[in-house]
Amino acid sequence: MMRNNRCVCCGDIIPKGRQVCAGCEYREKQRLGYKPISYWKQILYIIKAKLLGR
Ligand SMILES: [Zn+2]
Repeated sequence: MMRNNRCVCCGDIIPKGRQVCAGCEYREKQRLGYKPISYWKQILYIIKAKLLGR
């Protein structure tokens, strides 16, 4: 039974094997592109700290 995936962002029907539609993927890339890497490093640091419990 064939079932189309839906974009996790806007709910558009997209080809199987994809998570988001082309439009949202582009937007997400743009969004991530504007964020400095250090922003994600900070988040990872916080997550690690929580996992370590200190
Ligand atoms: Zn979308």
